[in-house]
Amino acid sequence: MSATRILLLGAPGAGKGTQAAMLIERMGIPHISTGDMLRQAVADGTEIGKKAKAVMDAGNLVSDDIVIGIAEERLSQPDAQKGFVLDGFPRTLAQAEALAATLDKLGTPLERCVAITVDTEAVVQRLLKRAEIEGRADDNEETIRERMRVYDEQTAPLLAFYEKNGILAKVDGMGTMEEVAQRCESALA
Ligand code: ADP
Repeated sequence: MSATRILLLGAPGAGKGTQAAMLIERMGIPHISTGDMLRQAVADGTEIGKKAKAVMDAGNLVSDDIVIGIAEERLSQPDAQKGFVLDGFPRTLAQAEALAATLDKLGTPLERCVAITVDTEAVVQRLLKRAEIEGRADDNEETIRERMRVYDEQTAPLLAFYEKNGILAKVDGMGTMEEVAQRCESALA
């Protein structure tokens, strides 16, 4: 049986959101994106949104406490009990450890971490193009480079964490959306 508790890991612009959308359509499980949830909180002007906005606009990470709180609340919803695709969480070792503790307690550990690997310069160009189309506040070149730096420093170490757990699968993220989707499916089989 294929995995249903899935984490997508990868640098900004690696295509996690795109692959998550294709996976959830195929598998009928929710897409849990802390980036989307935080952008919604900013748009709604909630307390969390107010705290997160400046940090996000600068390309830095929102505090572990806030993000762990919103992710765990989302994971406790009924629709997440049959599985989920996590995208953008965890992003730090502290978040990964908190998530592992929570899921272990529930007896529903992550089954697979799919790490989408890409060429940094190629994704910077992708994100600049997305900036023109979507106009996201954190898609300008300086912030994009900062997000890449933060990824290398804080999030890339999670590959070793999940490798040690025995659930890591690396997928080449360069190619068409369909090619990458095919590779993700194989990694989850
Ligand atoms: P990207 O497209 O760069 O991968 P996301 O949409 O996942 O970005 O997230 C956008 C921003 O939201 C991040 O740069 C960060 O400020 C904040 N954010 C999202 N998820 C997390 C997280 N797990 N921990 C800390 N900050 C987060």
